[in-house]
Amino acid sequence: MRIKLWGVRGSIPTPLSTEIIKKKLKKALTLASPGDISSEESIDRFINSLPYSVTGSYGGNTTCFEVRTDSGELFIIDCGTGIKALGMELAKGDFGKGLGNGNVLLTHTHWDHIQGIPFFLPFFIEGNKFNIYSPFNDLKERIEYQQVFTHFPVNLDYMLATKEFITLEKESEFYLNDIKIMNKRMRHPGGAFGYRIEENGKTFIYTSDCEFNVDEMNDIDTYKNFFQDADVVVFDAQYTFNEFIDKIDWGHSPASIAIDIASRFNVKRLILFHHDPDYSDEKLDEVLSNSKTYMSINTRKSGSLQLDIAREGMVIDL
Ligand SMILES: [Zn+2]
Ligand SMILES: [Zn+2]
Repeated sequence: MRIKLWGVRGSIPTPLSTEIIKKKLKKALTLASPGDISSEESIDRFINSLPYSVTGSYGGNTTCFEVRTDSGELFIIDCGTGIKALGMELAKGDFGKGLGNGNVLLTHTHWDHIQGIPFFLPFFIEGNKFNIYSPFNDLKERIEYQQVFTHFPVNLDYMLATKEFITLEKESEFYLNDIKIMNKRMRHPGGAFGYRIEENGKTFIYTSDCEFNVDEMNDIDTYKNFFQDADVVVFDAQYTFNEFIDKIDWGHSPASIAIDIASRFNVKRLILFHHDPDYSDEKLDEVLSNSKTYMSINTRKSGSLQLDIAREGMVIDL
C-alpha cells in the first residue's frame, strides 16, 4: 500500500506569504558561515542541515490523502484543496482519458474536507467512475449544495464522471476485493468518521477531526477494534494541550492524546495531522519536538512507537 499526502492543513487553506518566505531566507542566512557557502556542495550540505521549517513548508492545502493499494485500487480520503493537485496528477493517466476508476472516502462534510471537489479535474471527464462512500445518507445533497449557482458557477451534474454515492452502515466494515475498510464514529461537531484500511496484513488508519476528551478516554477500549496493531495511524492533533483545554467540544485533539492512544493500541507509526491554520512551520517543528519529549518521558508506555508529523507531498509505503 502506498499513501501520499496532498493536503494536511485543517480548517482553511494556509498559503505561504512573501513575508514568511523572507523570514525563512533571513533565518538561513543568519545560520550560514562563510564555509557553508563556499561551493555548490557545501551549499547543498548546509541546506540539508537546516530545520525543515527553514527550507520547506508543512503545506497549506486542506485535507486530502491518496491511498494506492497493492491490488491497484485508488482511494481518495477527504477532498480538501489538496485534491486539486491530485486531480491534475491523475489526469496524466487513465483519468485524463475518461478511463479511470476510483473510490472516495469522506470523513464528514465540513468545508476543509470537501472544498476541493469543484476543482477536481477527473470529476469533469466523462467515462471516469467514482464510488463515493460515507456513513451520511444525505451525502449527495450535501455535496450538491456546495455547488449551487450562488456558490459556484457549475453544479455537480455538470461534472460528467459517473459518481455513485454509497451510504455505509455506521461502525461497519466492507470489502473491496481483498481490501477491508472499516469506519468508526468520532466525537466531532456534526459527526465524523475515521477509516481503517487493511490489505495483505498491512493496516492504515485515517482519523481526522476527532476529539478524545475525558469521556472518550474513559471508554477508550471501545476503540480497540479500530486502532489495534495498525502500521500507520494519521491522527488529528490540531491543538497543543493548553488549547485543547480551552477548546472543549471544538472537535479536535492534542498530540499527547494521539500518542497515548497509539501507544495503548500497539500502533507502529503515528503521524500528527490536521494542522491548525495559525501554526507556522516553526510552530509545527516545535509540536513535533515537544511530542517527542512527551514520548521520551514515558518510554515504557510509548514503547517503540515511531512519531512523525504530516507534510504535504509525504509518501508512506506499507
Ligand atoms: Zn477538519
Ligand atoms: Zn470537521
